[in-house]
Order: sequence, then structure tokens, then C-alpha cells
Amino acid sequence: MRAVVLGGSVSGLGAGLALSRAGHDVVLVEQDATPLPPDPVEAFFSWDRHGAPQVWHSHAFLARLRNLLRERAPDILEALLAAGANEIRFGENLPPELQPYEPDPSDEDLVLLACRRITFEWVLRKQVLALPHVAWHGGVSCRGLVAKPDPDSGLPTVTGVRVETADGARKVLDADVVVDATGRRSALPQWLEEIGAQAPEEEREDCGIFYTSRFYRLRDGERPPGAAALVAMDLGYLKYAVFPGDAGIFSVTLAASKDDAPLRRMMQPESFERALAALPPVQDWVQPARSEPITEVRNIAALQNRRRRFVRDGRPLALGVHAVGDAAVCQNPMYGRGCSLCMVHAWSLADVLDEHAGDPYAAALAFDAVTRRELDPWYEAAVMSDRDAREVAAAQRRGDPSSLDDKPDPSAPVDPRAFMRSVIQEGLFPAMTLDLVVLRAVVRAVNLLDPPQSLMGNPDVIGRVLAVWRDREKRERRQQELGPQRDEMLRILDAA
Ligand SMILES: Cc1cc2nc3c(=O)[nH]c(=O)nc-3n(C[C@H](O)[C@H](O)[C@H](O)COP(=O)(O)OP(=O)(O)OC[C@H]3O[C@@H](n4cnc5c(N)ncnc54)[C@H](O)[C@@H]3O)c2cc1C
Repeated sequence: MRAVVLGGSVSGLGAGLALSRAGHDVVLVEQDATPLPPDPVEAFFSWDRHGAPQVWHSHAFLARLRNLLRERAPDILEALLAAGANEIRFGENLPPELQPYEPDPSDEDLVLLACRRITFEWVLRKQVLALPHVAWHGGVSCRGLVAKPDPDSGLPTVTGVRVETADGARKVLDADVVVDATGRRSALPQWLEEIGAQAPEEEREDCGIFYTSRFYRLRDGERPPGAAALVAMDLGYLKYAVFPGDAGIFSVTLAASKDDAPLRRMMQPESFERALAALPPVQDWVQPARSEPITEVRNIAALQNRRRRFVRDGRPLALGVHAVGDAAVCQNPMYGRGCSLCMVHAWSLADVLDEHAGDPYAAALAFDAVTRRELDPWYEAAVMSDRDAREVAAAQRRGDPSSLDDKPDPSAPVDPRAFMRSVIQEGLFPAMTLDLVVLRAVVRAVNLLDPPQSLMGNPDVIGRVLAVWRDREKRERRQQELGPQRDEMLRILDAA
């Protein structure tokens, strides 16, 4: 088949890779007119990627993605490692409380990739463009679809796309199948309506956060402090993470409620740095003697969880067109799942087209089923977690007690959600630093190797977490090790 893939970012390149490996001709259409820079470091400083502004933010590449590459595209994994990506293995850099490390055979799969997003995309593009039967149309924007009615179902069947080149020329690219990989801002609903198809059903919910990142470079001869692993912490009012990268470059991201006006100052460089200096797990990374900032502080807001359905009442909306990655389902970037799920989705599409060759109706239904199976649980988990995070952050802004044990009236009935939060904060989080079984279970779910509900369905893990929770009064609260309470953070920002 001739596949026209719209969008040359992670999903588009992933689809291009999988489809070309399945023997199809691939035409990649990317609106950014940006030739590939000579190497990833040059790309970091000069690549114009307006179409995907998130490339300038921290990215984690989860074990699910690394394992997919290991199994289906080992050459790409190899190229990433050769370009400086590092593998972070479960069991490395464990705190003393979890030593000696007793490996489990499943830990072989529990390996993250650490590199900058720009490096990931640079390697992927370089490798995909070198494949036979892949053509790249840079600086070309899709403006709509071309379709004819399917004689059997009457549904619009897509036969090509209308594109516009950088110099304003318009033409049609013929296609046997069109893959929309144009990301979160995909115009596919409008394009479908223009060819007479129904609009997809859509759900969206604000993530409720602002997200602010800065990149740093280790000074010559300096190494990452202590644990070179990804740091990810949740103070309720503030979430923060350190993302080790490649070429001695790492990044730090802060995320907080966009309704928290005083905290929004953290989007300014001076306050951003003040905040980092107050977060013990970050301090050592950003000490001036160890590293220096190499970018401005970059901010992104208006983040949404959004999913679209391309099958309605058991009937596809159109044939020969499929939305992949963020164009279909996107979620809060804080969970770091986007690129992994994009690649899973892209590869699944190639499998579905293979299995249902010559039957676009069956392919549309099968791809919808894959999307529901692979992406929906994570989308739903993100929506639920975001709702909870918004409530926790609002409670902290109001100054509500942060622990069940600080309730003004200890005899009053306990709200089940407050109980769950207490178990997470004062059971699960400390258990992750004390019990390898709990840590492994959490890290597997975070890395998309087990479904989101896997922790709740594991009686062994629940028992271990509750044991730690029951002992909570004997333990020092860990908050101070992770960072200040919100009031204290505001005082620190005021001083800035
Ligand atoms: C702040 C932030 C941080 C993130 N952090 C992580 C993380 O840690 N880990 C992770 O896995 N994911 C993360 N994500 C999510 C991840 O970046 C996305 O899931 C992923 O980039 C989606 O890839 P995509 O190819 O579907 O879309 P995009 O990357 O958005 O790419 C869409 C492409 O389509 C092109 N395009 C758009 N319209 C047209 C058109 N009409 N014609 C031709 N081309 C067009 C654009 O130029 C662009 O290249 C983060 C996202 C954000 C916003």
C-alpha cells in the first residue's frame, strides 16, 4: 500500500517505521520546513520544531517504549544508545534501605531510556529517512482529505490528502491509507466533516497544571550526583522531576496548579532557581559548581487530556484514515507516557493493516479496539489522577490538614477518598523507599508494563503498603526530605 503519514514527529515517524518494515511505501508529510541538523547537540540548539513545541521540555522514555524498540526495531535502540542515550535499569542506585538488591527475572524489562526528546526525535528521523520506500515531504502542510464513497458501506473512503507547500503551491497526494499523526492540535475532526463523515465523539478535561522546565549541562569533569536515575516527587501543591539526558545535559521540570497564582512565579528564572534550591533531591544536581543552565525557563499551560473516537455505534466514521498518537488520545505530560503510547499505537496500526489487508472496514474496527485496549486505561487513569491532584492542591491552598491524623475531630467519620490519599501518602510513598516488592510494582506500572489498576489488584503489595501505613506515627514525616510545605515555598519565592 501507499501510506501517507501526516506529521513527522514521534507518532508519524513511528508509523512510518512500522509501515515501511511491513512492506508499504510511506510518504511522510511534515509542516515544519526543518532539515535534519548534523547531530543531536546541534539539533538541541538550532532545530526549528515549532510544530512540536514540547520538544523543548523534559521527556522520560519508559520501559514499555524501550522494550518495543528492543523487540521490533533493535537497530533504532542501538542508534539511540550510540547517540548517547543511557539505559537506566531497575535495581541501580537503590537507597541503602533497599540493599542488598535481590533481582527478579522481570527486572530485565524494567529499563528506562534517558535522553533528551530532541535526541530521540533526531535519531528516529535519521533512521526512518534512511529506509527504502520512505519519502519525506518537509515544509508541507496537510489542508484536508480527498475521499469517494465506499460502494458497500456508503462511508467516505479516503483516497488522498490535499497539501500546501511552503511556497503556497497546492496539490493532492494519493494514498491507499492516510495516517493522521499531527498531534494534540490535529484538525482531523474538521477534515472528516469536510468529506461528509460524522465528527468523532470527543472528551476533554483540563489537566489543571502549568509545566515549567529548564535544561542544564554538567560542567567538564562533573558527574550526576548520587543516583543518576530519574527523580520524580510529589509534594501535593508541587510536582517536580529531574530527567537525566544525554551529552551531560539534564533537565528539571516543575508542575503546579495553574490556579495557584503565587506559585506561578516559578515560571520566571529567578524564582524557578530559588524553588530548585529548596528541593533537596534537586539541589545537588543544580549546584553552580556541578552544572549550569543552558536554556531559558520554558513554560507550557493549556494542557488537556483529550480522546477522540473514530467508530460510532459500531460503525467507522470513514475508511482508509486512522489517527495515531496524540491525534487520537493525549494526556497530561506529567505522567511521561505520551511517546511510549504513540509508538505502541503506531506499531499496532501497522499490525492491524497487515491483519486486515484489503478490508478497510474491519481495519477501522480493529484499530478502534486496539486503541480502547492500549490507550484508554492510561487516559482514564490520567483523568482520575488529575482530578485527585487538583483536589489535593486546592486543599493545601486552603490550609486543610494534610494527614488523617491531623483531623480537627478524630472521631468524625473518615472520607474514603481522604483515607485513600492517606494510604498513598503515608503508606505507598514511604513503602517505595523501604520495600523492594512495592517499589518494583509501582515502577512496573509507571513504565506501562502492568495495567494502571495492577497495584490495587495485588494483595501482596496492598498488604505491604498497609503495614507501612499502620506504622505511620512511628515514622518521621518525609515531607521535609522532599521539599518545603507550600507556605514555606511561598516565603522562599517572596524572598526572590
Ligand atoms: C510539556 C510536555 C512534556 C511531555 N513530556 C513527556 C515525557 O516525559 N514522556 C513522554 O513520553 N511524552 C511526553 N510528552 C508527550 C509527548 O511529547 C507527545 O505524546 C508526543 O510528542 C506526541 O507525538 P505525536 O507525533 O503524536 O505529536 P507531536 O509530537 O505533537 O507532533 C505532531 C507533528 O505534526 C506536525 N503537523 C501538525 N499539523 C500538521 C499538518 N497540518 N500537516 C503536516 N504536519 C503537521 C507538527 O509539526 C508535528 O511535527 C510531553 C508533552 C508535553 C506537551
